[in-house]
Amino acid sequence: MKHTKTADVVLIGGGIMSATLGSIIRQLEPGWDISLYERLDRAGMESSDPWNNAGTGHSALCELNYSPASADGSVDPAKAIKINEQFQVSRQFWSHMVAGGHIGAPRKFINPIPHMSFVWGDGPAEYLRRRYEALKPQPLFETMEHSEDHAKLAEWTPLVMGGRDPQQRVAASRVEGGTDIDFGSLTRELTGFMEHNDVDLNFGTDVTDVARGTDGRWEVSVKDRATDEETTVRARFVFIGAGGGALHLLQQTGIPEGKGFGGFPVGGQFLRCGNEEIVNQHNAKVYGQASVGAPPMSVPHLDTRFVNGKRSLLFGPYAGFSTKFLKRGSLLDLPLSLRPSNLIPMLAVGKDNMDLTKYLVTEVLKSRESKDEGVKEYYPQANGDAWELITAGQRVQVIKKHPKKGGILQFGTEMITSSDGSIGALLGASPGASTAAPIMFEMLERCFPQQAASWQPKLKEMIPGYGVKLNENPQLAREIMSETAKVLQL
Ligand SMILES: Cc1cc2nc3c(=O)[nH]c(=O)nc-3n(C[C@H](O)[C@H](O)[C@H](O)COP(=O)(O)OP(=O)(O)OC[C@H]3O[C@@H](n4cnc5c(N)ncnc54)[C@H](O)[C@@H]3O)c2cc1C
Repeated sequence: MKHTKTADVVLIGGGIMSATLGSIIRQLEPGWDISLYERLDRAGMESSDPWNNAGTGHSALCELNYSPASADGSVDPAKAIKINEQFQVSRQFWSHMVAGGHIGAPRKFINPIPHMSFVWGDGPAEYLRRRYEALKPQPLFETMEHSEDHAKLAEWTPLVMGGRDPQQRVAASRVEGGTDIDFGSLTRELTGFMEHNDVDLNFGTDVTDVARGTDGRWEVSVKDRATDEETTVRARFVFIGAGGGALHLLQQTGIPEGKGFGGFPVGGQFLRCGNEEIVNQHNAKVYGQASVGAPPMSVPHLDTRFVNGKRSLLFGPYAGFSTKFLKRGSLLDLPLSLRPSNLIPMLAVGKDNMDLTKYLVTEVLKSRESKDEGVKEYYPQANGDAWELITAGQRVQVIKKHPKKGGILQFGTEMITSSDGSIGALLGASPGASTAAPIMFEMLERCFPQQAASWQPKLKEMIPGYGVKLNENPQLAREIMSETAKVLQL
């Protein structure tokens, strides 16, 4: 027999996005019934798990893909500023949660680590200098340093410089105040807060269908994976925060805003080193430049990580190909996502992205030896034996309709909401978890315009800079960054 339940809000998926949204709504509307459904036995075990992502607090301090050179060689800082602004919103939210005693010690999920961009050769070095000149005057980037001096770089990052040709032109920009984040741990801190505040958390439960009921409410069908017991949950608002599982569920809703979207999965691998002698010589996230044809998220980086209190090194990512949309998904995910409405966009993307196809084929065919050679570009004295290959999370890149090209591949995050604001979904990846808070605030603004005025005071309490462009308000930016750094012990 099928059971029936009701809820004001249903959150599908127990990753960082649903955990962030649930924690925000719980504080804005303490009286609402909120239910969360997650197919795995714990929260934060898919893309939000620390070993399934790189844990970089993406704030465009070191990621060169957010500030590429234009045709005339100049660098526009606009996108980097936007990403940094978004990260500051997340920082304020986490700081509010820590300061209010809602979640535990910040060291459980966030650690300070310098962010560096590192390049070699004349062209890349010139580009990095121009990027530094474009970003340094911006208040959010005012602590950025830059150098081409081998000795200075060796001080910043001995592993990267050890054994390097002294004649090689190298350049690096560095911001000391970067972060490493364990998004899995943060997710569980947030779901812990939700649990203590009467949110109904259901793990080991699959969402099998989302359909509009005759009364206009959403009917979310869920199935307990252990008992096969089925329940229909009638909800006023549904958030599809199912990561790689979101596209299928969005398609089930039948909302016109969800038509035409497709997904292209890109698998990932990292090399991980736990040898303390090596690990303790590196104290940075060092991001380089992506190779030609490579998608922006495949920029190589050598990162210090902190997971469960243990420090290690991560290098990657290497791309892989699997038709799964979730690491723990099904090989049928890609074929089952094909619809008449997304076939043309999918075919158009296949035709227009030969560089990406070539890149993926090359990556998939890479031997372990050539992966070790990749590490040596960033850590010349690396010994492959000290590194183990681990499988990262799946990214499902968004494919969407395009009036001229038929379809385009998008590397960012796509938020889809119905015109009546009763359902929202999130597709895509980058910059991902780091921007969970601003993305979820935007979803609330879109879906609950009638609550905007009554929520303002609480929103301002959570995010002192809510709705303010910090880069245009340097004094406020400095105050907020200093306060959040103090609370988060950065
Ligand atoms: C290789 C890689 C590196 C990355 N590096 C970074 C980084 O350095 N910094 C950064 O900010 N971001 C990074 N990201 C992106 C970041 O990991 C994601 O944006 C973020 O984790 C997405 O969170 P989510 O909650 O949407 O998805 P997830 O964490 O995947 O959560 C979705 C949940 O939904 C559940 N689910 C799916 N289908 C169903 C269903 N039908 N019923 C019930 N539950 C379901 C899944 O089990 C899962 O737990 C990276 C991603 C990858 C893959």
